[in-house]
Amino acid sequence: MLLSKSREPREFHSRRLDALAEPPEVGHELFVGLSVLRDTLSSRHHSRDFAFAHARYLRSRVLALALIFALLSPLWIVVDALVLPSELLYLTLAGRVGLLLGLVAVLVLAYCSRERIWRIRFCAGMLLALPAGFYLFVLVMLPAEQLRNLVGYGFIPFLLVAALSVFPFTLIESLAAGLAMLGLLAFSQLNDGSWMSGRGLESVWLLSSLLLVSLAANHFQLSLLLRLYRQATHDPLTGLYNRGALEVHLEKVQAWQRDIEGQDSLGSVPCSLLLADLDHFKRINDSYGHSAGDSVLCQFAELLEHQTRRHDCVARYGGEEFVIILVGSGQARALEVAERIRHAVEETEFHGHAGEPIPVTTSIGVTRLAQDEPAQEALKRADEALYRAKREGRNQVVAALDPSDA
Ligand code: GH3
Ligand code: MG
Ligand code: MG
Repeated sequence: MLLSKSREPREFHSRRLDALAEPPEVGHELFVGLSVLRDTLSSRHHSRDFAFAHARYLRSRVLALALIFALLSPLWIVVDALVLPSELLYLTLAGRVGLLLGLVAVLVLAYCSRERIWRIRFCAGMLLALPAGFYLFVLVMLPAEQLRNLVGYGFIPFLLVAALSVFPFTLIESLAAGLAMLGLLAFSQLNDGSWMSGRGLESVWLLSSLLLVSLAANHFQLSLLLRLYRQATHDPLTGLYNRGALEVHLEKVQAWQRDIEGQDSLGSVPCSLLLADLDHFKRINDSYGHSAGDSVLCQFAELLEHQTRRHDCVARYGGEEFVIILVGSGQARALEVAERIRHAVEETEFHGHAGEPIPVTTSIGVTRLAQDEPAQEALKRADEALYRAKREGRNQVVAALDPSDA
């Protein structure tokens, strides 16, 4: 007993172990940042679902900033009254009234545009264009000798370029807005005579530097948003939607069905839900190894994406269970698609990491997705149908009872 104890290696103890207590680092931050440059440059590569999440995020910022601008702008009338002769005061006053009305319109429009991506983008653009337009109006309308007396106007292009960093704009959007602000600054300098002077060049330099800082802020804000969105909604193994994203998507599909039905001419649109489960998957893990099992899951996910259309949704529901939402397909069509998938799985040669062939089959439960039922009910029906498919021998498609017949 004493002997065996003395042979036991001494427990390793070092302060270096503390490093392992840190959370795992996923790639170096700088590389993560740079690798998504393509995604932060423009929204061309963003998924439709991300575009909605992005628009919601943008909207909250538009509302906050429009409110701040609308509250602050009228207060400056006091300063105008101190520096401008009374016969010119009405000009800035008229401009400020126009600005305020515009900002209130942006506030109302953004508030009423919950899921309207383009309207929210328009509001964000107007939020920057309105104060810039107001400044331009003052520059054009006021006599040149009075421009020197103005207080608090010259900083408008700077404020707007700094405000760019608050929004998760793409780099191209921010660059376009920033260049417009540089144009505005140049125009104001031509008007007040400081163009190409030491003071004028200093302002251009300052605004350009501020623009670069805002672009960096946009890049990191948007890339972080993309990364968090991806992690929160996608399964890391297969790259498909995860269960949480599926539940959100199901509600969106049902809301869309109700919307379409509201427009009389089109009538209701049928949608179906497929629940596919790999047969005897545990045996695959046991016979070929867990990593071969992972590889089969990825190949199966790829096959499902291949067999469905772009607007259908494929998600990993749990371990080896997948859900497919067929938009616009009734029960008969959904059964055809499910049978096609089942057959394709049977015919496809799945293989492990070393290329060894792995026979795979799948069982699928099919049900209709009614627009006014809780989505969980449809999932439950599909699960019952899947259970029947398993009980009746696997490698088959079974339709659930129609909810209206139950
Ligand atoms: P059935 O035909 O009745 O569905 O049998 P089954 O073996 O497929 O089902 P069961 O629920 O008994 O086993 C599912 C297995 O899937 C158990 C689990 O270890 C495995 N699994 C779950 N998630 C993963 C994963 O991410 N990778 C791998 N390799 N296996 C997984
Ligand atoms: Mg299974
Ligand atoms: Mg299962």
